Amino acid sequence: MDTFDLVVIGAGPGGYVAAIRAAQLGMKVACVEKVKALGGTCLRVGCIPSKALLEASHVYALNKHGAEKFGVKVTGLELDLPTMLAHKDAVVKANTGGVDGLFLKNKVKRFFGMGRIDAPGKVTVTAADGSEQQLEAKNVLVATGSVPSLIPGVELDREIVGTSDEAIDYQAVPRRMVVIGGGVIGLELGSVWSRLGAEVTVVEYLPRLMAGMDDELAAAALKIFTAQGLKFRLGCRVQSAKAVNGVGRVTFIDADGTEQTLEAEKVLVAVGRRPFTDGLGLEKAGVKIDNRGRVEIDDHFRTNVPGIWAIGDVVRGAMLAHKAEEEGVAAVEFMAGKAGHVNYDAIPNVVYTDPEIASVGKTEEELEAAGVPYKKGAFPFKFNGRARAMNAVDGFAKILAHEKTDRILGAHIIGPQAGHLIAEMAVAVEMMASSEDIARSSHAHPTLAEVLKEAAMAVEKRAIHQ
Ligand code: FAD
Ligand code: NAD
Repeated sequence: MDTFDLVVIGAGPGGYVAAIRAAQLGMKVACVEKVKALGGTCLRVGCIPSKALLEASHVYALNKHGAEKFGVKVTGLELDLPTMLAHKDAVVKANTGGVDGLFLKNKVKRFFGMGRIDAPGKVTVTAADGSEQQLEAKNVLVATGSVPSLIPGVELDREIVGTSDEAIDYQAVPRRMVVIGGGVIGLELGSVWSRLGAEVTVVEYLPRLMAGMDDELAAAALKIFTAQGLKFRLGCRVQSAKAVNGVGRVTFIDADGTEQTLEAEKVLVAVGRRPFTDGLGLEKAGVKIDNRGRVEIDDHFRTNVPGIWAIGDVVRGAMLAHKAEEEGVAAVEFMAGKAGHVNYDAIPNVVYTDPEIASVGKTEEELEAAGVPYKKGAFPFKFNGRARAMNAVDGFAKILAHEKTDRILGAHIIGPQAGHLIAEMAVAVEMMASSEDIARSSHAHPTLAEVLKEAAMAVEKRAIHQ
C-alpha cells in the first residue's frame, strides 16, 4: 500500500494547485484523477477552451465588422472552423500537458482512476479496467469540482441539446442556437457562435442577465449584446428542451405567462453547475453535505470528519478557477500549520465577452442592503484616448468607496480588457486601498487603466477628462 501525507482527489485548478503547494511545503503528495488529461473542468472543457474560442472568434468578428474602421479592408474573409477548433484543442493540450510536467517537477504522484474515500485516511483508486489500488494518507483533500446542472423537462441528447461540454466543440456553425440561461456560460459561448454567424437567442428566467453582478453592468451588457445581434428573452422560464425530428425544440413560459416555442439546430443548456460527489463515498465516511449537494466545510476547509478537507466548486462560494486555486493553497497551508488565508471580497469575477465585464468586492446593491454608506465614482471608456484608438469605447468603470474612510469596497467594469483591468482593483481591495490611493497613483498614458484613475478621481468629483 502506498502511503502519503496528502491524497488529493481531483486534478482541477483547486486540486492540482493544492497538490503542488503541498509538495512545496514538504509533503509527500498523491493526486487521483479519473480523466487522463489533468487540469479539470477549467483546462479541459471550461475556462481554457472557451477562452481559446472567444479569442479566435473575436479575430474573425473584428475582420468581418471592425477592421474597416481602422482603414483595413478585408476581402475574401472565410471561416475555417476545423482550424479554429484545432487551435482550441492545441491550447487545451498545452495546458493539460503542462500540469503533468508540474507534477513531475514537484514529485506529485498521479493516480489515474476514480477515487473513493473508504474511511478517513483511506482512499481506493479504481482504474477503468476495474482494478483497485489502496492509498493511505494523513489527510485527504476533496477537490472533485462540479458538472453542469439540468432542469426538469430538458432531455440531453448531446448532439442537438447539450451543455457547455458540447458547445465548445460544435463541428459546424449552427444556423440558429438557443441558449437556456443568461449567465456567464450563456453569454460567453452564445457570443462565440453568434460571432461565427449563428442566430443566437438567450432565454433567461430572471428579468436581467448575470444574476449577482452589479445591476448597472447587467443593464449595459444587455444593450451592447443586443446591438451585437444576440436576442434575449428575459423573464422566461424554460419548461422543456428536446430534439424533435432532428431539430431542437425549447418551450418556455414568457414574461406574460404565455407558452412559447423556439426551434434551433443547437440548444445549449447553461443553467448553472452542481457540485460533483458521485461515487466518492462521502456518506459512508460520514462527511456532511449541505442541502445544495456541497461538501460542508469550516473556515479552514475542514469537513466534519478529521483528516478530510474540501475546496473549490464542490464547496460553497463562487464557482471560479482562481477561487478554487486560492482555497487549495490555503487548505494545505492550514494542514502544514501555517496561516492560510482567502479574502473572498478580493476575488474578481470576469465575463470574457466583448466588451469584457469584470467585478471585485461589493456591488451597490449589496452595500445598500447592508446599510453601508458609500461614494461612487464612474468614468466612461468613450473619454479615454486609448479606447478611442482601439475603436472600443463602449462601457464604463465605477469604483465604490466607503463614505467616511474612503476604503475601496468594490469596483465594476464593462469595457475593453476589463478582465485585465480588474486586477488593479483586486489588489486595491486586498491592500485596503482608498480611492485617493488610486487617484494619486500615476497610470501610464495612454492606457485603458487611466479609466480607473479617472473613476477614482470621480469619487471626489474631480475627474479631469469628463
Ligand atoms: P474541477 O475543475 O471541476 O476539477 C475537478 C476534477 O476532479 C475533474 O477533473 C474530475 O474529473 C475530477 N474528479 C471528480 N470526482 C473524482 C473522483 N471521485 N476521482 C477522481 N477524480 C475525480 N472559471 C473561471 O475562473 N474563469 C473562466 O473563464 C471560467 N470559464 C469556464 C467556462 C466553462 C465553459 C465552464 C464549464 C466553467 C468555467 N469556469 C471558469 C469555472 C471553472 O472551470 C471552475 O470553477 C473550476 O474548474 C473549479 O475547479 P475545481 O478544481 O474545484 O474543480
Ligand atoms: P450561471 O449561474 O452563471 O447562470 C445560469 C442562468 O440560468 C441563471 O441566470 C438562471 O437564472 C438561469 N436559469 C436557471 N433555470 C432556468 C430556466 N428554467 N429557464 C431559463 N433560465 C434559467 O451558470 P452558468 O452560466 O451555467 O455557469 C456555471 C458556473 O460556471 C458559474 O457559476 C460560473 O461561476 C462558472 N463559469 C465562470 C466563467 C468565468 O469566470 N468567466 C465562465 C463560465 C462559467
